[in-house]
Amino acid sequence: MTSKDSEKCNRAAVYAEPGTVKTEVVELPIPTPGPGEILVRLLYSGVCHTDYAFCMNKISSLPVPTAKGQVGGHEGVGEVVAQGAGVDFPEVGEKVGIKFAADACLSCTNCLEGFETGCSKLKVSGYYTPGTFQQYCLSTARYATPIPEGIDLVTAAPLMCGGITVYASLKRSRVQSGDWVLVSGAGGGLGHLAIQYAKVMGARVLALDIGSKEALCREVGADNFIDVLQLSAEQLASRVGEITSGGAKIAMICTGNVQAYEQALSWLGFRGTLICLGIPDKEGALRPEISRMIDREIRIQEPFSAYKASNRLEAKECLEIAARKGIKVHSQLRKLEELSDVFQEMEDGKVKGRVVLDLS
Ligand SMILES: [Zn+2]
Ligand SMILES: [Zn+2]
Repeated sequence: MTSKDSEKCNRAAVYAEPGTVKTEVVELPIPTPGPGEILVRLLYSGVCHTDYAFCMNKISSLPVPTAKGQVGGHEGVGEVVAQGAGVDFPEVGEKVGIKFAADACLSCTNCLEGFETGCSKLKVSGYYTPGTFQQYCLSTARYATPIPEGIDLVTAAPLMCGGITVYASLKRSRVQSGDWVLVSGAGGGLGHLAIQYAKVMGARVLALDIGSKEALCREVGADNFIDVLQLSAEQLASRVGEITSGGAKIAMICTGNVQAYEQALSWLGFRGTLICLGIPDKEGALRPEISRMIDREIRIQEPFSAYKASNRLEAKECLEIAARKGIKVHSQLRKLEELSDVFQEMEDGKVKGRVVLDLS
């Protein structure tokens, strides 16, 4: 058991003044699981850009602004310490994860089709549902993600969002063994995971990023690398064509960089698929030319961002693959008290690797 009998309260980081990076560590009561719920003693939580965006009220499409006192976070992992009425599984002592989608109805058409994040009853961890920046978190038992043996929890935490996002999008792209997958922004948080999941799925990976990221990209498995700062758009397209013998089968844009979106379609070969993951600052960067789309039969996969990622099956598969294949996460461990600093570093673009909060 990792729950400590001595713990009488639940340390949590709350958004103190939504619209600013200010957070505060407070002591909350340890919640009691209701029917169908489990209580999870969280040990680690990743910090995602979406958490920063919730704290800053930067997501304009949300129905209402983030509430003051909200416990954020949606990449939590820990151990079940109590079950509510009617819960058989997961059992006390099992390791589970809590992801962005905290619960869905599982009965509507979207849920039945596996698009649980499209459920109108969706509950979101860290936005009007207490999230994972706390030691004790309730979860609907049916919605907790099982964490398999063979993966350490510091690694598992950031996979609950970034890992699931890249895995689910690759799976939906129907990538096949030997396909060339181009990853743009390959040395970043999503990008370095995209390289690894694409390799596990049998693809060859061409990584695009700035030169200082080459070592990381190759270390996690990229077959080839192009420094995007060294070539013009035309030179880059032609180099991609040479390496991939006519263009990539799949291009994953893991950056919000506008130039990447402007050039993305020129990197694809016949029947290529574009996967949009990074969100650019301005709209209009991606300009599909119908003649090129028809000529090359190019497909733009339904875009979904990190905060809309995946159903329960994709989350489970993502973690199982990570445990079996040794997916590595470039991360740094920080304290709960440092969350405001972390958000400030995100604002300043200074975060190196994924931040994981130690909740012990
Ligand atoms: Zn996230
Ligand atoms: Zn539903």
